[in-house]
Amino acid sequence: MTGISETIIYNNYSQTGLVTNMQKGVDLDDIFDRFLKPKTPIFKERDALRATYIPDFLPHRDREIQQLANILGPIMAGDIPSNAFLYGKPGSGKTVVTKYVIKHLHEKAADAGIKFEYSFINCQMIDTPYRVYATLCDTVAVDTEIATTGLSTDEIFNKFSEKLEELDLHLTIILDEVDLLLKKASKSLYGLTRINTDLLNSKVSIIGITNNVSFKEQIDARIRSTLTEQEIVFSPYTATQLRDILEERSRIGFYDDVVTSSAIERASGIAASEHGDARRALDLLRVAGEVAETNQEQKVTADHVKKASTVIETDTVKEVLITLPIHAKVVLLAIALLDHERSSPKHDLPTTGDVYKLYYDLCKQLVLDDLTQRRVGDLINELDVLGMIRANVVSKGRHGRTRIIRLAVQALEIHRALEKDPRIFEILPNPEFWLTNQP
Ligand code: ADP
Ligand code: MG
Repeated sequence: MTGISETIIYNNYSQTGLVTNMQKGVDLDDIFDRFLKPKTPIFKERDALRATYIPDFLPHRDREIQQLANILGPIMAGDIPSNAFLYGKPGSGKTVVTKYVIKHLHEKAADAGIKFEYSFINCQMIDTPYRVYATLCDTVAVDTEIATTGLSTDEIFNKFSEKLEELDLHLTIILDEVDLLLKKASKSLYGLTRINTDLLNSKVSIIGITNNVSFKEQIDARIRSTLTEQEIVFSPYTATQLRDILEERSRIGFYDDVVTSSAIERASGIAASEHGDARRALDLLRVAGEVAETNQEQKVTADHVKKASTVIETDTVKEVLITLPIHAKVVLLAIALLDHERSSPKHDLPTTGDVYKLYYDLCKQLVLDDLTQRRVGDLINELDVLGMIRANVVSKGRHGRTRIIRLAVQALEIHRALEKDPRIFEILPNPEFWLTNQP
């Protein structure tokens, strides 16, 4: 019935030419046109803005590329290069520079008839010696399969080294985020760092990469010297450098004239103030593009970047915090509480010592065995690397040096993530607490 009458009404309209836009406040044409039109073209190649993409040109990394290429160069002459150790804050281009150089070396070696292979291992995923060696077995198992189930770590290592020896090649092993592996098993790479003494035909070199600048001291002494024969330090990008990187990448990722210079300015500004993180800058720009796309806008503006920053913030803080070990959560809660207390101007910024004291009290409340002040210092470093806090070294005159510590994200966001942990939940204040007493 309704169907019929609607048809009739529709027919009536078309017959009488009433199908114009009569409802003055509502632009129906516009609404329907928007569905008719293809989506506003914003992205030419969205993937070019993701962290996994390797561009052909890496602005402001000439020095690091040259250094790494010079270290690996001997491979072209059939010699074993020094092992290299790369460190710098997250998003400073360590992974992309390594992939870039190794890819070119691989092509060049193939052209010259040199047998060279590499294995890129992300220790965030492959985080035990067993799994590292299993991955290496996969790398060297050309056309075959090496059965690794049921083997001990030593056995699997031997399988790998036998197979490698048969192949008569140079293998470079890249251990990205190697601190995550060594933290679990500090001596685990000992065999690998000594493997060349047992090999007659093949050769191995290692590139270790870490975000954790103070990690070197924590490596087991017997492997430290071998792993860190040559070091390359990646400094954080400045705002201007980030701008160049973003401009270069948006040429590939976005259509021409879509990204405004104010958007690039804003994204590089935000990322520069957060330890010069190029990943952050690119994420901001990509998400800003997605916001513009959803709103069917033609340009990506600074406002879109600002929106993007709130979207990203909420997601990453939660993700990062939820997986932290309990002691890191307690340390972070202590810092949040001290930071909040400081809102009244009479308080100085808290130091490592202040954090430790409160951490200690919180552990008592939680009936948790407290860690040493040194370990808490390490956790503070890690929280800094994760971008949750800022720890700056200051001189205290004749009292030596200490670090002053402040939160780098909203306390309420930390609260929202910490409350997911039933143990910590017990000692959290009400959420409203964080909103009171603001300066
Ligand atoms: P790190 O390994 O130091 O954490 P990455 O190498 O993963 O950092 O870089 C993070 C993101 O920033 C990646 O998407 C990478 O392609 C990009 N990037 C970093 N440095 C540059 C650069 N100089 N030019 C272009 N893109 C860069
Ligand atoms: Mg990396």
